[in-house]
This record gives sequence, C-alpha cells and structure tokens, in this order.
Amino acid sequence: MALGIPSTRTDRAQTVRDLLAVGDRSFSFEFMPPRTEAAERRLWDAIRRVEALDPNFVCMTYGAGGSSRGRTVNLVGRIATETTLTPVAHLTAVDHSVAELRNIIGQYADEGVRNVLAVRGDPPGDPLGEWVRHPDGVTYASELVELIKGIGDFCVGVAAFPQMHPRSENWDDDIRHFVAKCRAGADYAITQMFFEVEDYLRLRDRVAAAGCETPIIPEIMPVTNIKQLERFPQLSGSDFPADLVARFRAVEDDPVAVRAVGIDHATAMSERLLAEGAPGLHFITLNHSTSTLEIYQNLGLHQR
Ligand code: FAD
Repeated sequence: MALGIPSTRTDRAQTVRDLLAVGDRSFSFEFMPPRTEAAERRLWDAIRRVEALDPNFVCMTYGAGGSSRGRTVNLVGRIATETTLTPVAHLTAVDHSVAELRNIIGQYADEGVRNVLAVRGDPPGDPLGEWVRHPDGVTYASELVELIKGIGDFCVGVAAFPQMHPRSENWDDDIRHFVAKCRAGADYAITQMFFEVEDYLRLRDRVAAAGCETPIIPEIMPVTNIKQLERFPQLSGSDFPADLVARFRAVEDDPVAVRAVGIDHATAMSERLLAEGAPGLHFITLNHSTSTLEIYQNLGLHQR
C-alpha cells in the first residue's frame, strides 16, 4: 500500500491473531490518552499521519487510574468508527472490580472493537509499590485474559519482558507465569521497551524452550532527548547497554545529535529484529509521530 492511500477496513485482518496466523508481519503504533485539548489535537494529528502509513493496528494505553480511563474507551471507539485503523484497546486490572471490567469490555464490543491488550497495571504513583487487589477484582493478567476470552470472541494480547518483569525473582518463575498467561488464551504478546536485541532473542528462546509458541512482537522506543536515558529505565525497568550510553554521552550537549543517535540505534535494532524473524514491530509514539515515522521510513516500510 503506497504512502497516503489508506486501505478500507474490509481488506485487512480485523484481529492481530488473524494477521499473524497467515504469517504476515505486523507493524503497529502506540498512543496514550491526552490530558489537555491541545494535546488531544496533537494526538489526532499524529493518528492521521500514522493512518496514512496503513499500519496493521494502533494501540491506546489505559491509565493507572482517574479520568484518563474513560478517555481511552472514548478514543478507541472514535478510532474504530472515524478512521481506517484497527484499534487495540489496552485494559488494566488494577483498581477495577470484575463487574467494571466486564462493563468496559461490553462497551468495546458495542463499538465493534475486537482487540484488547490485557495487562495487570501497576499501583498508581509507585510502579513497584504494593499491588493491592480490588476486593472484587483479579490479581494477575492471566485472570484478565480468561475474563475477556469468556465474554466473547476477542483477540487478546499480553505483555512480555525481555529483561524479566521487575517483580519476578528469577527467570524460571517469570517464564512459567508468562506461559500460563498465554495458555489462559493470549493470542500474542508485545514486549516492554528494551535496547539490546539479544534481550529479546533470549526471551524468545526461553519461551520456546518452555513449549510456548505465542508470537512475541518487539516494542521499539527511540530515545530522542538525553533526559530519557534516565526516564526510560525508571518507566520500564529496562537498562541501556553501556556502549549505547557512551554514544549518547559523547553528544549529550547537542540535542540534534542525541536524537540522531536514538533514531540510528532504533533503526538498527528494528532491522536486526526483523532479520532474526520477529513477527513485527510495535512503535511507541508518545503521541508524536515524527521520530517513529523516520524509523519506519528508514526501514522502507512506508512502501508496504
Ligand atoms: P502479570 O502477567 O500479572 O505479571 C506481574 C508479575 O506477577 C510478574 O512478575 C509475574 O511473573 C507474576 N505472576 C504472574 N502470575 C503469577 C502467579 N500466578 N503467581 C505468582 N506470580 C505471578 N500499564 C498500564 O497501566 N496501562 C497500559 O496501557 C499498559 N500497557 C502496557 C503494554 C505493554 C506492551 C507492556 C509491556 C506493559 C504495559 N503496561 C501498562 C505496564 C504493565 O501494566 C506493568 O508492566 C505490569 O507490572 C505488568 O503487567 P503484566 O500484565 O505483565 O502482569
């Protein structure tokens, strides 16, 4: 599909499961609910630019609490009805009763949304704080997967962690729980951001060795400013390799050069991941499409 000519909704796989089942690679972008009207205008500008690239799906994240949760439901509905894009709605278990979760899933069904990414969510304010289950809720993402699958024919994605989930004590437990989440019905996984291809390959090998064939789509997050060298590990628990930190530090006073290193590294990672057989790439946009679109073009994907 040439740049600028979006497909109609009928000529593409409507779930990520169908797309991966026929062996196609998946290219997708992630957005988050905006906080202000100006930010919402920027988001729609980014969505429209991404739409012109005809990605396989776009994700909308779900907040840890508060009013952004309603905005996610609303934005996913608008993407489904007002654009040619296939939306994947993130949903978190934290601070929700099962009745509330059922209600949100019902709203998605009413909008014709069939793709949900089920994550447990972190405690609001402190991602590594004590995880307190809602008295009428669920504890782990595997239970959320079961709940969604029990409600209807949804395609459900889950989270995977190339450097192990920060709460896991060892790889054996981490992989066992990941595989249980897949056996609960997950159709595919998307990884946490990571900065070294080997981390993804090791995770994929460990999951395969445990007898699990669920496709794992790597997430790509380009560093575009020097503050992100500290921010991204805090957000994700993923470390930067020392040689990459040294490349950024060598140009840290030059914002243009920092961005160029970030895009170059993300492009090289993406090329290698595809060469290693990754089932696609998932780009985080932070609601700004520019740097991810640059990587997409570097990879020649705009001519899909
Ligand atoms: P789980 O799979 O439940 O695992 C959490 C921990 O519990 C792991 O250590 C696991 O090994 C362990 N565990 C699992 N099952 C068991 C068991 N039966 N017994 C004992 N231990 C167990 N957060 C948001 O708030 N909103 C979003 O939109 C969002 N989107 C995300 C998208 C992606 C692709 C990723 C990678 C993360 C996303 N997150 C989001 C962050 C996510 O909510 C956190 O990383 C959370 O800590 C992990 O969620 P999970 O679904 O992997 O949890």
